[in-house]
Amino acid sequence: MRRVNIEKRNRRTGIVDCAGRVIIPKRFREECGFEDGTKVEFSMLDGNLVIRKASLTCAICGSLEELIEIEDKAVCKECLKKIKNI
Ligand SMILES: [Zn+2]
Repeated sequence: MRRVNIEKRNRRTGIVDCAGRVIIPKRFREECGFEDGTKVEFSMLDGNLVIRKASLTCAICGSLEELIEIEDKAVCKECLKKIKNI
């Protein structure tokens, strides 16, 4: 029965509005460190939506678009073009 209690404690419901917005419950925002302005990324895992802090951004301009990973960093295509022209 303990397992059921843990599942209930970790569940909250929300309603998606017509623009696709949903309020992340405060408890989860706090636990995940989501503050006002936190960049997040969305992904699908086994048919479930996963929201996490955006981990990869361009090391130069901070962009989240068209990233190319180099080692454990990332650079966007635009900055990569600029680097190539140096
Ligand atoms: Zn960039």
